[in-house]
Amino acid sequence: MERWTRRIGICVIGAGVLGSSFLQKIAGSGFREINVVDGDIVDKRNLHNQSIYRKADADGKVNKAVAACYNIRERSGNTILRSFPFYVGERRINSVISGSDVIIDLTDNIESRLVINRAVVRSGKKALFASVNQKQGFVYVKNGNSACFQCIYRNARVKDAARCVSVASEKADKVSEILKRELSNLVSKGGNGSLVQVSFSNGSMSNTPLKKDPDCEVCGKNQKGQILQYRFSQLCGNGFKFSLERKTRFDRLSRGFKGFKSRNFDGEIILSKGKKSIIASRYGDFLLSGFSPASAKAMASLLQKLFYRGG
Ligand SMILES: [Zn+2]
Repeated sequence: MERWTRRIGICVIGAGVLGSSFLQKIAGSGFREINVVDGDIVDKRNLHNQSIYRKADADGKVNKAVAACYNIRERSGNTILRSFPFYVGERRINSVISGSDVIIDLTDNIESRLVINRAVVRSGKKALFASVNQKQGFVYVKNGNSACFQCIYRNARVKDAARCVSVASEKADKVSEILKRELSNLVSKGGNGSLVQVSFSNGSMSNTPLKKDPDCEVCGKNQKGQILQYRFSQLCGNGFKFSLERKTRFDRLSRGFKGFKSRNFDGEIILSKGKKSIIASRYGDFLLSGFSPASAKAMASLLQKLFYRGG
């Protein structure tokens, strides 16, 4: 990988089982820069299949992107490592990917994936989307004007709810190997959109070329513009997230949560009370942790009322 990597910056979104496996494989490859994006916190339940993290990272306070960059720094030579400790939403995705040549989406929920896909289409950058489940792994290669992720998963918005299944690290390693090879091919040879699938039961692999869907709402002729993301989704590690896609008034927010401690941090506000916390960005992205699913939903609708009432 050595020769071409020096001029390439990559953005790895998602540092879970697949992301941490992939980062370990490429850490010493000499990339110009590696940007790592994840809003999740390292949990002790991650340690058995995400070997990039250490026991000391799992104290419930350390962000995955920050820990991953820190733990690969010694092997990374001159590579610039940058961490983005948040979940990407429509508002921040453009600035997150702007410095990278190839976007590698290893997130485990479809909503983030669709946000990333739209940003990839808008920017015209090269991208790889990968995922892994108990039975198979897949890597989707997007190059310039080839089919986008939405072309393949036109109806994915509803059917793919977050499945928080823990996948063995050997399966993730297998997919990371394929990712690494496809990344090298994509940069050095180019090529068109294709889907690589691997079956873990018999090890068979397939490579399917994909055509753009002319009716795709993201990359086709009949684009309807941005699809806003109001939906509520449960994250695998910690909590729930949603976006109101509306500027957050921090003063109004802290007034609405009496009894919560509030502090500002890097353009975000953190409200906390006991084990419960609400992190809100100026752009209306919310991350709730320490809430049960029912109370998180109630909280989401309360927040919605709070921000939609009046101007
Ligand atoms: Zn498309």
